[in-house]
This record gives sequence, C-alpha cells and structure tokens, in this order.
Amino acid sequence: MAKIGLEIHGYLNTKEKLFCKCDAVHGKKFVKPNTNICPICTAQPGSKPMLPNKTAIEKAIQICLILNCKINSKLIWQRKHYNWPDLPKGFQSTISGPYAIPLGVGGKFLGIRITEAHLEEDPAAWNPLNGEVDYNKSGYPLIEIVTEPDFTSSSQVIDWLKQLIETLKYTKTIDKSLGVKADVNISLPELKGERVELKNLNSLTNVKTAIEYEIIRQKKPSELPKIQETRAFDEKTGKTTRMRTKEQAEDYRFISEPDLPVIKIEKSRVNKIKSNLPETPQEKVKKLVKKYKIEKRSAKVLTKRPEIVEFFEDVISSSKVPTKLAIPWITGELLRVLNYSKKELDEVSINPQHFIELLDLINKKVITELKAKEILNKFIPDSFSPLKEMEKHTKISSEDEIEKIVKQVVKENSKAIEDYKSGNENALNFLVGQIMKLSKKRADFKTAKEILIKNLGS
Ligand code: ADP
Ligand code: ZN
Ligand code: MG
Repeated sequence: MAKIGLEIHGYLNTKEKLFCKCDAVHGKKFVKPNTNICPICTAQPGSKPMLPNKTAIEKAIQICLILNCKINSKLIWQRKHYNWPDLPKGFQSTISGPYAIPLGVGGKFLGIRITEAHLEEDPAAWNPLNGEVDYNKSGYPLIEIVTEPDFTSSSQVIDWLKQLIETLKYTKTIDKSLGVKADVNISLPELKGERVELKNLNSLTNVKTAIEYEIIRQKKPSELPKIQETRAFDEKTGKTTRMRTKEQAEDYRFISEPDLPVIKIEKSRVNKIKSNLPETPQEKVKKLVKKYKIEKRSAKVLTKRPEIVEFFEDVISSSKVPTKLAIPWITGELLRVLNYSKKELDEVSINPQHFIELLDLINKKVITELKAKEILNKFIPDSFSPLKEMEKHTKISSEDEIEKIVKQVVKENSKAIEDYKSGNENALNFLVGQIMKLSKKRADFKTAKEILIKNLGS
C-alpha cells in the first residue's frame, strides 16, 4: 500500500493583497500585466510591508478551525530566500520554515490528520521561456495546508481533496473561482522506498494521474526511490521526471522578518471567530436532511454551491411548492440552463418568486414540463413573471372582447371598408389583419372574421 501526504495551496478570499492595498480580487482577470502593482509588491528600494491583511489572517484562522486545528498564539513572519525573477524582494514572507510557529497545528478533517496550516504570500507569475514577469498577483495571500501521510490510494486522495476544496469554497474562505494546487508526497513503505515529492499539481485529474504513475514506477526494482527526491509531473505525457534529490534541496536561509511585528492572536479573538464560523457543507447536508426530510444524495448535490442551496431554501421556505418538485427543477433544470449559458447563479438575476410561480404552474398542471423548460431557458440573464408572460400570449376567445376590437378597427379604417363594400375581397383580409395586430395576435382568427363581417353589415 502507498503512503501519501499532501501540501495544498489555496488563495484566501480577500479584497487586498497581504502586505499592500493592491487588489486581490480573483476570478477577474487583469487585462494587462503589471497594472495591479505598487512599490511594496514589486519591492521598490526602500519599500516596507504594511501590517498583514486582517481579513487574510481571519480567513486563515477560520480554515484552521474548520480543519479542527489548535490555533497558536503568535505569528512570527519569516523570510524564505531564493533568487528568481518572480520574487523581487529576494525572499518570500511566510510563516513556515524551521523557526516558524504555524498558525494551526494538529487538526483532523474527514478522517485525515492535518499537520499544520500556515500563511504566506504568492510570488509573481514568471515565464522562464520569454523572461516576462507579471507582478499582478505578487503578494496575494495564500494558505498552505499540510496533511500527515494518511492516504493510501489515489481515489482516497481525490475524494478527500474534492471535499476539502468544496468546503473551503463553500465557507468563502478561499476564492471560489480557483482550482487545486497541491504537492503530493508518496512512498511505498512495504518496499522500504523513500519519499518522492511531486510538485505543483494543478488539477484533480493531474493529482490522480501522477499518483497512479508514481505507484507503478516506484514498484519497479530499478526505480524504487533509495533517497528522497523531488519530481515534476508532465501533463502531456502523464509521467513524472526527477527535478532534484532532497540532498540538493535549496537552502532557503530562513530568518525572522525584522520589518514585521510579531502578531499576537488573543484567545478571545479565536473564540469570536469560532462562534461565527461559517456552516460547512457537511453540516448543511445534515441540516437539509433533517429539516426538509430529503435524501442525503439530493442534499449533497444542492450543497455543491452555497448560492444554489440558498436559492433552494428560499424557494421552499417562501412557498408551498413540494420539495419533491423543487429539487429536480433546481439540481437538474436550473443547473442545466446555467451550465448551458456558462453562468453561475449569482451572475444572473433569477428572482425566487418567479421560479416559484413557474413550479406552481407545473404543479397545478397549468403548463406542461416542456413548456416550463422553455420558459426557464428564457430566465437567463433576467427572470420574469411566467404568469404575466402567459397572459400576454393567451388567446382572446370571448366574443365581447373581440367585438370591442372589431369596432375600433371599423372606426379607424373607413377607406378599407368602402373598398370591401365595393367588392374588394382583399380589403376584408386587410381588416382582419388589423384586428390581429391590435389584439397582439391573441384574437381567435375565425371568431374575429365572423364578427367583422357581421359588423360590416353585408
Ligand atoms: P518538506 O516537503 O518541506 O520536506 P515535510 O518533510 O514536513 O516537508 O513533509 C511534508 C509532506 O510529506 C507531508 O504532506 C507529509 O504527509 C509527507 N510525508 C512525510 N513522510 C512521508 C512518507 N514516508 N511517505 C509519504 N509522504 C510523507
Ligand atoms: Zn501592491
Ligand atoms: Mg514539501
């Protein structure tokens, strides 16, 4: 059996960078490189960091608590040195390294032990092929979560990682528009193999492929790792290649950061964050099952995204629509139209009241499911009242109402009436056309013609 441990990186959900006031709004792409910068995040001579972003620390503490970690009482920033163009200061500010006290330690999440979680800043984006550096993301606040080597298979890693990421996005602690970034450590203890570290895997598929490739590779006697090494994964070939052995590992020359004060984390602050901790999807699922008596499977689908489950609760609590009807229409049809238009629910404006009206019409069998799907398709980007919309299209078959319209047409078209009376059949068609136009095509054609002829009195 394999022994696998993870180091996971996530962007904390903050508005500003860690040590300056530059934008840290993710998802939104900056059109031009190097337009979201200041002297601090580009390390201009003489610049000093501002005090670390409070929201970043707050979100990091929330994550540590969600992962059931013990929170340490101080943060001592470290300088981790290396010389690459993506790091203009020549060091990364972090709370990791041999002298650091991690923010959170000794946690557990869904059966896997959490070694520690800590904060650090993101370097810039550097393209070694053309030498271009973009400092727009330089200084974004990151959290790194390190697990104990408790995993034994790729599928177990994937299941857990999926739930971890879902939980962090759901609780709005990390940015929802971002994917996975993880290092995977893997060894085969039964063969007395040493540990291999796979760097920078950026999707669940890559994590899975890389683990499975490594297990097969390490089992070959000639490939069994005898010393620790770091390897890179090539997405194109699905293979890993050696980057360096651990003996050659860089010396980061860690020192405590003299430009930043030690930050005390008071117990009372942690307790306050604890008591306002956002609900996790696991807790939400339990609540949904209990409160609305729905199946766990449906509750899990609803809870994939916070805005969807919020919408569901809105619909259910403010209407008499049966949950049995609401669930497939939200998890199936609503998600279908959103996916089709490549939009998230919070990027369009769908009024729950309009959605309720639609479900009501289906429930009372006023419209068919097919018709309802057609209406729902038109809810993007803005919903409307399906009832009002239908009234616009329903046929007018009441003779009184049609007669009123006919009278008006007769009054307004004396020329066509004369023509008709002098034997021009086309004039009659013209007049019927006017009735249809005035009624917005809602008058019953046959009735309209009959009433018209009667009114023309011939
Ligand atoms: P670093 O990567 O900086 O050397 P550590 O030595 O603390 O840091 O290791 C980090 C990761 O390696 C953790 O995710 C841990 O679970 C994993 N790990 C430690 N020992 C093993 C092992 N024998 N097999 C697989 N993974 C391991
Ligand atoms: Zn800046
Ligand atoms: Mg490592």
